[in-house]
Amino acid sequence: MNNTGYIYRSQLMGTIVSLKLFEDHKTAVQAIFNLIKQLEDLFTVNRQHSQIMAINHAAGQHPVAVDRLVFDLIYQAKQASLLPNSCFNLAIGPLVKLWKIGFNGYTVPDADDIQQRLALTDPRLVELNATDYTVFLKKTGMSLDLGAIAKGYIADMVKIMLQRYHISQAMINLGGNVLTIGDSPVTADHHWRIGLKKPFASDNVLLGIIKVKDKSVVTSGIYERYFIQDQQLYHHIIHPQTGYPLDNELQSLTIISPTSLAGDIYSTVIYGMELKAALAYLQKLSSIAAIFVTKGQKIILNTKQHCDFELLDSQYQLINNYP
Ligand code: FAD
Ligand code: MG
Repeated sequence: MNNTGYIYRSQLMGTIVSLKLFEDHKTAVQAIFNLIKQLEDLFTVNRQHSQIMAINHAAGQHPVAVDRLVFDLIYQAKQASLLPNSCFNLAIGPLVKLWKIGFNGYTVPDADDIQQRLALTDPRLVELNATDYTVFLKKTGMSLDLGAIAKGYIADMVKIMLQRYHISQAMINLGGNVLTIGDSPVTADHHWRIGLKKPFASDNVLLGIIKVKDKSVVTSGIYERYFIQDQQLYHHIIHPQTGYPLDNELQSLTIISPTSLAGDIYSTVIYGMELKAALAYLQKLSSIAAIFVTKGQKIILNTKQHCDFELLDSQYQLINNYP
């Protein structure tokens, strides 16, 4: 151990997962990486077989029974998809698979293909039956994609596992989803320091530092999985109404919340809203704070009392929206 603790890493869910502890607890670490692997195997849509893929393969044919926890996550994802003006859509799968952004074979599809796939993304056609935990996609060709939400659910499960091992100070990073547990033992103010990445800069360049205690920090952005064609940038958050990558003033949106699942839900739900509407929306969510980074190099803080932000990049202007 050095003054930053013990760091363990593993390649999972197409990213590097890291876990920071302050004791060398190999049994807990092994159990946690096994848990993430098991959950990845249930939720992935990047292989032929998983519980989500079983639902997708049976689209238009029959309901599929799933584990209770898979059902719970699909239920929450459907609720988030049905919120007014939500950008979140759990049935976005046909469009994600058409664009393939972040994967081999990414492409700008034909407008006709996009229109055809859009017709297969209505979240109301995801039928859930809570008595036997079955899920039915009512049209052939529909598919679920939980890429925007599964990491948050998994991070919260890891926290529960850590608590079972009586580990009360830790940090989990699932690539975009950071969850801090308890106080930081290595800072004078006991807050954790989470870097906010500078969009389109190299990995270690930060716009600023977020200081939190016992909170989740989730960032969605347009600068991790994207491609450029004819000077146009195409990123991986698809507008559920147009079928094209969302085109607004945001480069990234960070949500600070008690759970990582809430962070995942709101970082996508709010992403497509006009800034004013998003800020108004946040007024109603008292436990949630947000950091908007715009293409115009503004950082708009809606942080209430839940976190502190320290700006490191003088090219960006800090705007405090909330008293
Ligand atoms: P977020 O902003 O949280 O989510 C964006 C992702 O959500 C998109 O990539 C898409 O999958 C989906 N999405 C797009 N638009 C919408 C919308 N409007 N509403 C809802 N969802 C939308 N990556 C690999 O490269 N290889 C893998 O094998 C692999 N396996 C994975 C397995 C699991 C279980 C999970 C959870 C992820 C995996 N990934 C893999 C990564 C995955 O493909 C996404 O890139 C990642 O989950 C995006 O998370 P984010 O936090 O970066 O972005
Ligand atoms: Mg997310």
